[in-house]
Amino acid sequence: MKIACQLGDMFITAAYAPSGRATCKGCQGKIAKEELRLSNIVDEDHYHQEHHFHADCFQLKPAFKNATYKDIFHVENLSKEDQEKVKAILEKLQKTEVKKKPQQKKINPKSKQNKSKKSDVGDDSDSDDDYKGTKKQNDKQTKIEQKNEKKQVISKQSESFQNVSDEEEEPEVFVLYDKSQKEEFKKIQKELEKKSMGQLKQMLKANDQKQTGNKGELIERIADCMIKGCLEKCPNCSGGRPKFNPIQKIFKCPGYMDDTEFRFCNKSYQPQDLKRIPWVDV
Ligand SMILES: [Zn+2]
Ligand SMILES: [Zn+2]
Repeated sequence: MKIACQLGDMFITAAYAPSGRATCKGCQGKIAKEELRLSNIVDEDHYHQEHHFHADCFQLKPAFKNATYKDIFHVENLSKEDQEKVKAILEKLQKTEVKKKPQQKKINPKSKQNKSKKSDVGDDSDSDDDYKGTKKQNDKQTKIEQKNEKKQVISKQSESFQNVSDEEEEPEVFVLYDKSQKEEFKKIQKELEKKSMGQLKQMLKANDQKQTGNKGELIERIADCMIKGCLEKCPNCSGGRPKFNPIQKIFKCPGYMDDTEFRFCNKSYQPQDLKRIPWVDV
């Protein structure tokens, strides 16, 4: 949803940060590469402003008090969990902040000073282009960066497309497997192909594991549980299911939806830090 404001079109975007350079307007900390990021964008011909936030630090502009998470640009490119998270963040902000304090928080001038010192190292990615026309150079730079970002998103999409069509692609969990485990995994995979979706879900349910996904995903989840054991729920929030990141080789808890609201967690675990409970056959 684009809202016309004094300065031009205003909108919110969601993305995994394409670099680790941007600074969060909420906490002034860096936003790590690949981290979930929400941004307030104002876009007009000669004026462009991007304010990036860690998802948990996001500040909602009063103009968006009636927006739904589907109005957030690119939200559909996020994982299901992150979409839920963004939805929960937006709804929470709409319930509290917008109603209670419609005034935007003023940025502490001290921290701004510190920041401009730091960003002297040629970091324009998150600059405060809070002035009109005077900084065309900067404006261009931001636009170029935006384009690059779009390209990255596209290349990422085609990558994951390849993953689907490429039969040789190995399951993510293989980065933690040795050769014999990989062979066992493939053997189990073949056996499980014969089962119905209902049967596979039954097996996962009996072992208190997630039952969503397509058949291939269910089979991989079961095979991993059979070989390595079933992953315990997050010991930190005791509701989330830590998700494996094959690049960083860590598990990270996305949080979870309890009866009424989303519980944030974000705790990271080394693979050996999470308990594995032996698989039970049904
Ligand atoms: Zn932050
Ligand atoms: Zn957790």
